Amino acid sequence: MPHRIGSGASGRPPQGSSSRDLERYAGLFAQRTKAMKSSAMRDLMAITERPEVISLAGGLADTSTFPAEDFAQIMSMVAAEGTARALQYGPTEGIAELSEAIAEVMAAEDTPVDPGDVLVTTGGQQVIDLVCKTLVDPGDVVIAEAPTYPGAIPTFAAYQADLHQIEIDADGMRIDLLEETLDALEKQGRRPKFIYTIPNFQNPGGATMSLARRRRLVDIAQERELLVLEDNPYGVLRYEGDPLPTLYALDGGQFVIYLGTFSKILSPGARVGWAAAPRPVLQKLNVAKAGTDLCSTTFAQLFVSTYFRTGRWPAYIQQIKDLYRRRRDTLLDALATDFPADATWTHPAGGLFVWATLPEGLDTTDLLAKALTRNVAFVPGRAAYLDGRGERSMRLNFSGVGEDDLQEGVRRIGEVVAEQLHL
Ligand code: PMP
Repeated sequence: MPHRIGSGASGRPPQGSSSRDLERYAGLFAQRTKAMKSSAMRDLMAITERPEVISLAGGLADTSTFPAEDFAQIMSMVAAEGTARALQYGPTEGIAELSEAIAEVMAAEDTPVDPGDVLVTTGGQQVIDLVCKTLVDPGDVVIAEAPTYPGAIPTFAAYQADLHQIEIDADGMRIDLLEETLDALEKQGRRPKFIYTIPNFQNPGGATMSLARRRRLVDIAQERELLVLEDNPYGVLRYEGDPLPTLYALDGGQFVIYLGTFSKILSPGARVGWAAAPRPVLQKLNVAKAGTDLCSTTFAQLFVSTYFRTGRWPAYIQQIKDLYRRRRDTLLDALATDFPADATWTHPAGGLFVWATLPEGLDTTDLLAKALTRNVAFVPGRAAYLDGRGERSMRLNFSGVGEDDLQEGVRRIGEVVAEQLHL
């Protein structure tokens, strides 16, 4: 009889793990698990799924806006074309029709792409993981923005990257500071494996990189032969101002790896994203992906590509843009009413998030614990840094929250802030 773990009659380990349980397995874990960090957003999700909690912590598209009849029609179109393919494995690089839909979305941002330069992935998150898996050995330098996407921090940590975070301002990453860091690293003989940036409506900092900085960043990448990972999940969700060229378009396919996703414009649950990259890099990413999951879900890819064939997506994007713009404005108005006068926050021209910074002396990690007792949640700023900075800031999502809840949520957070200030 095999050795049984735990004492349950079923032979299953009991829920949760005591320190004795952990000791039993401790010698088996890889070194890298010591560097691993759990994702603040994922940790919060268990709490924020409770219906009484108003969560400004997610990065959710409002999937309730997708018409149920369109969903049913597209699924029956997929079924009518044959279950054999929909239920089968597909190529690692993704199904051909989807690469065409991807080229269509990228064209909407004036970014031409050869479908052969595209790798379909299991969400954009997998691109970050595969890029690290392909490029980063323990201790290698990765450069990111300060703050950066909280979901990327656990990935960089898991691959034991030496993360250097470069401050942003209203025009995005401070390229002058980037150059200083690159020069200092060069003196030590260290070449960063890649520079990670979110140029549009940065998550969480809200900034959009100016055209001059985009040009300079691409020049730097080409001059120094450095890879850039351009993360652009919501470039088409712009609520004001003129679109700016992507780094991928400016670079012409030499040093920029582009990350795209259908999560914010159609469905995060479909888990369909993509990378567009120079061929030699793409080939390595493809091999890395095959080792991870063989291929992305075929029927989700068919769902997305069939939806694009119906030609309805531009109208849908317009609809969610109008909705999210209203929600952004509601959130901004609520902050002006309920946050202290010396708090500051961003006014993002698009995307899903506002980044608010509170007066000296406040710590948003402590505040979150108090806010949760009042059934409201946000992402504390520390989650956007690997080195513990960000204690006075918080990320607030507006796309996935109705206007009444946005107002009520900010009112409750404002109350907790006021109490902390008067302690
Ligand atoms: N990058 C950024 C900047 C994001 O905001 C997100 C989702 N919140 C992702 C990547 C990952 O998205 P997904 O895996 O759902 O495509």
